[in-house]
Amino acid sequence: MNSAQPWPGVIRRYASFLPVTAETPVVTLLEGNTPLIPVPAFVSAIGGRFDLRLKYEAMNPTCSFKDRGMTMAITKARERGAKVVVCASTGNTSASAAAYAARAGLKCVVLLPKGKIAMGKLSQALLYGATTVSIEGNFDDALRIVRELGEAGQVEVVNSVNPVRIEGQKTAAFEICDALGDAPDFHFLPVGNAGNITAYWKGFREYAEAGLSDTLPKMMGWQAAGAAPLVLGHPVANPETVATAIRIGNPASWQGAVEAARDSGGSIRSVTDDEILHAYKLLARTEGIMVEPACAAPLAGLIQSIAAGEIPDGALVTATMTGHGLKDPDTAIRVAGFEPHIVPASKEAVMAVMGL
Ligand SMILES: *Cc1c(COP(=O)(O)O)cnc(C)c1O
Repeated sequence: MNSAQPWPGVIRRYASFLPVTAETPVVTLLEGNTPLIPVPAFVSAIGGRFDLRLKYEAMNPTCSFKDRGMTMAITKARERGAKVVVCASTGNTSASAAAYAARAGLKCVVLLPKGKIAMGKLSQALLYGATTVSIEGNFDDALRIVRELGEAGQVEVVNSVNPVRIEGQKTAAFEICDALGDAPDFHFLPVGNAGNITAYWKGFREYAEAGLSDTLPKMMGWQAAGAAPLVLGHPVANPETVATAIRIGNPASWQGAVEAARDSGGSIRSVTDDEILHAYKLLARTEGIMVEPACAAPLAGLIQSIAAGEIPDGALVTATMTGHGLKDPDTAIRVAGFEPHIVPASKEAVMAVMGL
């Protein structure tokens, strides 16, 4: 695309790869076009000798990658004349649905697992004006109810069980190929409901089939150990992890995730909460990049992959940083390990803290 032209959002940029026509009433907040940030200090801190670039999806309008799928889902809802959209969410889907529904003038209802939503995400859904329902259950319970509402036919479901969400999300893979001139050797990402790994794999394949890239990456998906149904091979009844965005026991895109890992020669494995929080803090301290805990799952996974000798020297590795660290300030403050120094308002007191 001509760099002199303003970025038009993912639907208009990649229209030829998406189920839209010239008449489709596009609802966009100009999502996409997110940075691919090199992180050499982080790589050397974990003992790697390869080129790692982070696809920093925090730079989307509601600060997570969910906006790529939501621009499609809300656009199609409007095209079909829907009046009400509904979703189940671990937080970011609800923030995104609420924002795009507000933009489109649609009513939005979000179902959240009670007490398990990071504060930033809850604040978004409430401020954008979505009817916000806390379910006394987990994400999987909320998604079951949303599916039932969808079958009753009165509402448009905008979870990733809606296939147009996956279509929008695959544009992140296109952007990575556009930025690098080809696909990377490996792509790392967190896996929760498994829509995103399914979407990236679809995107990488479609770009190669269109002749816009030559190679395909190995897809390396990472779950939290307490919420790792794809690793265990069966649903988990009570998923638990500090990474609330991937606290899911029965992923909707199970098959897509398994195929992405298998067909690309990659894998889906798990990391513990301790490993996640270690990588989360290390990224912030070595690179000045704040992500939400779920994003640190693939970074912790990278540490495992290095130990297993899986990443050749000089490889080109990309990883999706799915959401912004400010979404979950409680975890940031807890993990930082210290609190502000409280001192009298004098230069001397500040110098004392500085050790001068
Ligand atoms: C939704 C989400 C995930 C998980 O993506 P899936 O498509 O459900 O696998 C990971 N991280 C963040 C920040 C998310 O919002």
